[in-house]
Amino acid sequence: MARIPKKRQQATEKLLELLGPRKVKLEGNEKYMASFDSMKLSFPYEALVVARSEKDVGATLKLANEFGVPVTTRGAGTSLTGSASPIKGGWVLDLSKMNSVKILKTKSMAVVQPGAIVSDIQAAADSEGLFYPPDPSSLKYCTIGGNIACNAGGMRCAKYGVTRDFVLALEGFLPTGEKVSWGGEYKKFATGYNVRDLWIGSEGTLGVVTKAVLRLLPKPEKKWTILVAFDSDIKALEAVQKLLFAGQNPAILEFLDTNSVYCAEEVAGVKLFKGLSLKPLLLVEFDGNGSQLREDKKKAIAWATELGLAYREAKTEKETETLWSARRACSPAMFSMGDSKINEDIVVPLESQAKFARFLKQMQKKWKLNAPTFGHAADGNFHVNIMYTRSDADECRRAKGAVLDLMKKVVALGGTISGEHGIGLAKTPFMNFARNEAEMGAMRAIKKALDPKRILNPGKIFTPYEVWDKKPEVVKLPWDKKPIAKKEA
Ligand SMILES: Cc1cc2nc3c(=O)[nH]c(=O)nc-3n(C[C@H](O)[C@H](O)[C@H](O)COP(=O)(O)OP(=O)(O)OC[C@H]3O[C@@H](n4cnc5c(N)ncnc54)[C@H](O)[C@@H]3O)c2cc1C
Repeated sequence: MARIPKKRQQATEKLLELLGPRKVKLEGNEKYMASFDSMKLSFPYEALVVARSEKDVGATLKLANEFGVPVTTRGAGTSLTGSASPIKGGWVLDLSKMNSVKILKTKSMAVVQPGAIVSDIQAAADSEGLFYPPDPSSLKYCTIGGNIACNAGGMRCAKYGVTRDFVLALEGFLPTGEKVSWGGEYKKFATGYNVRDLWIGSEGTLGVVTKAVLRLLPKPEKKWTILVAFDSDIKALEAVQKLLFAGQNPAILEFLDTNSVYCAEEVAGVKLFKGLSLKPLLLVEFDGNGSQLREDKKKAIAWATELGLAYREAKTEKETETLWSARRACSPAMFSMGDSKINEDIVVPLESQAKFARFLKQMQKKWKLNAPTFGHAADGNFHVNIMYTRSDADECRRAKGAVLDLMKKVVALGGTISGEHGIGLAKTPFMNFARNEAEMGAMRAIKKALDPKRILNPGKIFTPYEVWDKKPEVVKLPWDKKPIAKKEA
């Protein structure tokens, strides 16, 4: 570990004195586990602060600002980009213990602390007949603070939108330790700059959220699911356009390419259509009330009959689960194609999706690597999973080449390099493809104005970092699924 400046050592001693050893950990496994996120790039740092109250957060930031100590805020550490890794050392500010959830039924709002787990918020809303739609796949683990900081998405974004669309107000601290609140328990405001929206998606670089007011919706009465098989990836993606251009508004519209279906069928053993194998799929779910849902169902079946090879609809809960099985199984089965995965979350405009499917084929051929791709087709937000073997230097070189080609291509197609995971460390080398000098300059100016000493989550978003130079930790995290291996015939 690099030598820690004396001033920073003194700051840590003061912090310990101020908050005590229950909240400030200088060693141990809990501290080690907060030295990385789901990307597993671990960095040494001085102290883990387990905040229990707003007061703890304010006091930590005030001291950090005074002594110039880097602070990395942390929720559950499920980030896939290294955004919660303390790359510059200093203190990790863990907010997971501040996790209360209060539902304001008559206002259709939830007042939550940042460490509240997203599935707990959903369950609390559900128990009052209300609905919090954003549903990242990590929802049983990730916190609302992390979701706000990354503007998390998920499958239901197709109809409902992302986290940003449900945040009415934020309260928290500036990097200087000053308390601020942007909005309140009301639905709109036009009171100067909207810093609430600036904080959302800023990856913990502009402020620390300690409270949020979320918008809730009435719970949809019913849902209905259909799975459709297509002849080719391109045909499946063309069918997405047709469904959406016809005015259909599915809650979920997930695409699984041929390679992902291979993982589900040939590796995990999921079989969904008799006599049809290795066909790309669209999984479509509608929700709403009875008459609307009946209308959606009629139109969707007409669409599937016209464009697909075959379709299956779910008439029971059990059948719904069966239709979801390929989507759930494909990800862990991808590890039959390599022990390591680069999970990208790029976005392409709807009309470029077919071109993108062509590019993916070429990319895999050029670099001789598999990149099974699935994702949120209604948003053009695809998870391209580049599979490789970490111990094979040549495969690492090829994986790196494939990522570079991918990032250049999505920008050339009018898309962007991240739709929901954010930039963190992983995508810093590609920021200059997605943002020009003026745009980067404007973002830097905002950062400087709000965080003059640049203490909050330094090293993220702006400065290119070479992730390939650092070995990931070998550790199993609670959300790591057991890889599915291909059974020998
Ligand atoms: C298996 C798996 C599936 C996933 N699926 C999805 C998905 O479908 N959609 C999606 O969008 N993402 C997904 N993710 C990524 C990840 O879950 C999200 O980015 C999530 O929002 C991170 O939440 P967290 O609590 O784990 O935050 P952390 O990982 O702890 O932190 C993430 C960022 O938020 C900042 N931060 C955390 N709390 C605060 C706060 N209170 N104030 C200010 N900044 C804060 C951190 O500094 C960091 O920059 C997935 C991850 C995994 C491991």
